[in-house]
Amino acid sequence: MNGGPVTVASLRPNAFEPGPEGAAGAVEAFDPGIPEGDLLVVVKEVMAAAAKRVDLTEADIIVSGGRGLKGPEHFGLVEGLAAALGGVVGASRAVVDAGWRPHAEQVGQTGKTVSPKLYVALGISGAIQHLAGMTSSRCIVAVNKDADAPIFKVADYGIVGDVFEVVPALTKAVLAAKGGG
Ligand SMILES: Cc1cc2nc3c(=O)[nH]c(=O)nc-3n(C[C@H](O)[C@H](O)[C@H](O)COP(=O)(O)OP(=O)(O)OC[C@H]3O[C@@H](n4cnc5c(N)ncnc54)[C@H](O)[C@@H]3O)c2cc1C
Repeated sequence: MNGGPVTVASLRPNAFEPGPEGAAGAVEAFDPGIPEGDLLVVVKEVMAAAAKRVDLTEADIIVSGGRGLKGPEHFGLVEGLAAALGGVVGASRAVVDAGWRPHAEQVGQTGKTVSPKLYVALGISGAIQHLAGMTSSRCIVAVNKDADAPIFKVADYGIVGDVFEVVPALTKAVLAAKGGG
């Protein structure tokens, strides 16, 4: 706040519970008074993403995979757990840079900042740049075979184990709890 006539506030998606409906409010057109020729960026059109999937920033449940998955061919494990939980897939930058996953899935400082109800980190070390994008998640679950991995410092629940053993068992248990497995 600078005490000027206009204050701009921004919020991280999902960071706050919405208030009760019905509050009074109105949208006002705002003219910043900048001549069109001086504008550096002009929004010509806003297009919805073609993909049907829920955007990471809007998701209640995110299951993210990291380099511990060893290769893109093993992301079926991440997708399987995400599907069982009704969530979407996220990724660390290491796997995005390696071309295993699209940039739209990257969580962290140079990716998306997310605040889901549940964030599951599979084979992710928990580098500071990754944590920058997900520590406001309400519940964090981590699976990593290294008990000293930094991700465990922010996790509400941590499993020290191999993703190739733990994730299939977790997925099976989730499906069984939902009556589907
Ligand atoms: C300017 C800058 C911006 C960055 N922005 C981002 C960003 O937005 N998002 C981001 O994620 N990173 C970002 N990074 C990169 C970040 O520093 C890390 O390099 C990256 O997050 C590491 O990804 P990772 O955890 O998947 O891989 P690694 O650090 O290699 O960790 C892999 C983990 O998997 C575990 N593991 C290995 N095998 C198994 C197994 N079989 N079972 C269980 N666990 C296993 C290991 O113990 C390890 O902890 C940025 C870096 C810089 C310099």
